[in-house]
Amino acid sequence: MRISAGILFLVVCWIGYTQNQGAPPQLNLNKVKDDLYEIEGDGGNVAVYLTNEGVIMVDDKFDRDYEAIVTKVKSLTSQPVKYIMSTHHHADHSGGNVKFFPAVEIISTANARTNIVEHKQPNAPPNMAAARVVFTQETSVFLGGKEVRARYFGRGHTNGDAVIYFPTLRTIHTGDLMAGSGPLIDYPGGGSVVEWTKTLDEVMKLDFDTVIPGHGPVTNKAGLLTYRNNVEKLRTRAAGLVRDGKTQDEVGKVMMAEFGWGAQSLQMQWSLPGMMAELR
Ligand SMILES: [Zn+2]
Repeated sequence: MRISAGILFLVVCWIGYTQNQGAPPQLNLNKVKDDLYEIEGDGGNVAVYLTNEGVIMVDDKFDRDYEAIVTKVKSLTSQPVKYIMSTHHHADHSGGNVKFFPAVEIISTANARTNIVEHKQPNAPPNMAAARVVFTQETSVFLGGKEVRARYFGRGHTNGDAVIYFPTLRTIHTGDLMAGSGPLIDYPGGGSVVEWTKTLDEVMKLDFDTVIPGHGPVTNKAGLLTYRNNVEKLRTRAAGLVRDGKTQDEVGKVMMAEFGWGAQSLQMQWSLPGMMAELR
């Protein structure tokens, strides 16, 4: 009796352990355009661009998603991943860097690299790995006769957001300059609600019709403009409250009621205090 209870206990522990180790969350592979795919689920959206000399990716989610990402890429091509264009320093976009090194060259803005090196994301895991190749304004990778261009247009979500442009496909990956329903302004990471719309105004000047956002479904240029205008709406509302002398608590309550900020959300932690200071 005691032995079988002991075995049962071990079995329960083993199930708990394996489930805790857990398969990473389900990822979904979607075709965007010819030779361009995106992987949704868990962290930020990953773009996968196929060439006959190798694969160029945008972002690599969390490190726990590495095997699932590689499996998805292998279902598309026998070519190896050669480059990852990294949109910014957050662990849900750059957490996989540590696993893709050293076989893959990772490229980010200089600021995104600094933000990883200086641990600017308070809740990032300790194994974050920064890009080895950086740029400040613009860079391109040419592979298999195709070009992928990375641009820095200014502050927004962070101070180092790259917009990745696939010129022949007229498609961009925005990183978290467009993500979900509303902006997360990462002030510890150099973000700015004032600069955000100016940055997106520059992005809108590119020639594109398709948008892969940092999170959420693929959309189009009109979708990005709507998002930009929502950022402006939020800023105008917050600026009015600040001008009226409202406290941080009072502004936070309005953001929760009118813009869907959760009480315990990263917006309340990362965006609210910095936004009060920037709009004052
Ligand atoms: Zn982010």
